[in-house]
Amino acid sequence: MNLHEYQGKELLNSFGVRIQRGIVANNHKKAVEAAKQLTAETGTGWWVVKAQIHAGGRGKGGGVKLAKNLQEVETISENIIGMMLKTPQTPPQGKKVNQVLIAEDVYYPGDSEPEEYYMSVLLNRATGRNMIMYSTEGGMDIETVAEKTPHLIFTEEIDPLLGLMPFQARKIAFNLGLSGAALKEMIKFVTSLYTAFVKSDSSLFEINPVLKTSDDKILAVDSKVTLDDNALFRHKDLATLRDLREENEIEVEANAAGLNYVDLDGNVGCMVNGAGLAMSTMDLIKQSGGEPANFLDVGGTADAKRVETAFRIILKDPNVKAILVNIFGGIVRCDRVAQGVIDAYKNMGDAIKVPIIVRLQGTNAIEAKELIDASGLDVISATEFQEAADKVQEVLA
Ligand code: GDP
Ligand code: MN
Repeated sequence: MNLHEYQGKELLNSFGVRIQRGIVANNHKKAVEAAKQLTAETGTGWWVVKAQIHAGGRGKGGGVKLAKNLQEVETISENIIGMMLKTPQTPPQGKKVNQVLIAEDVYYPGDSEPEEYYMSVLLNRATGRNMIMYSTEGGMDIETVAEKTPHLIFTEEIDPLLGLMPFQARKIAFNLGLSGAALKEMIKFVTSLYTAFVKSDSSLFEINPVLKTSDDKILAVDSKVTLDDNALFRHKDLATLRDLREENEIEVEANAAGLNYVDLDGNVGCMVNGAGLAMSTMDLIKQSGGEPANFLDVGGTADAKRVETAFRIILKDPNVKAILVNIFGGIVRCDRVAQGVIDAYKNMGDAIKVPIIVRLQGTNAIEAKELIDASGLDVISATEFQEAADKVQEVLA
């Protein structure tokens, strides 16, 4: 689960990480109030208006703008709220901006040398340890830095039992070229950042840029925070930060119905029981020249109601041109699933306009095929896996 920039910053700040402060607003009137309040709290004279969407690169797309008076706060906010913001990380049509963060300007006017660094915390899957990745080249695409100047990216691995050791925090600050007060500030920054990462059960923190001001403060100007969904049960407060408007609509709906669904780009809808079989079904579709439109695990109890829900969800994707139902009858009997498919099909009236290929294998597979073939419905049955994938290709051809 991803957080908005402002939510991520609040999380960091609650663990003592210094942040660029700000107040979120969902219309331009509130934005002006937020700017006034922020000035009362921080003394800032200028403000930055920052679009809050789940995507980076907002600066490049026109979603981050400096405002030098309250009138500018108002007009900029009015322009940004409601816009479809396009950045290198959004879908081509962009993402709708529902709110802006009014933040204090921390690049002080006349400040000749604000330094921007890059810092992230993530799991190194190869070693099974968390690591801090950091660079002097902040403020720009880290992918570009990795490609052009990989020697400017450092990593520090953390022992899960010892945690981040003081010498490691010092090493990071030294490698960033810091000394004096800024060095001490960076050590504090890194230490509290790592504590926040572990305590919140996050799977990714990316702070780009981390800023050093001319008066040697180190602070997070941006934040990308991804929480581990599997640990949300012990962070009820963080779970409420979910913004469903930012997530894939079909996935949200499938999730609510208890189905394991992931939206993909292809045109062959898949309905499968079991995650492993679902993965190999996608592989086989691809190997036979097709492109899966989704991953969908209907689970062990593929009864008529569940099958119908699954059909409805798959069909919400306008790209779907055929559906492959691939069920292995282990605990669940194939004839029951077949009956489920037939009932669902009938229930849905003429909602199903694409060909359906059903492959049922396992307990009572023969009875299942007979049921489908006798149903008179426009459903193609298959018993072998490859045969089913081939039939998908035939109907698409
Ligand atoms: P991103 O483009 O989505 O990564 O958004 P960021 O939060 O990283 O902001 C983009 C850029 O806006 C930063 O790299 C800064 O150069 C600039 N920016 C952010 N905060 C301030 C600020 O307080 N003052 C000024 N002048 N620029 C800022
Ligand atoms: Mn950024």
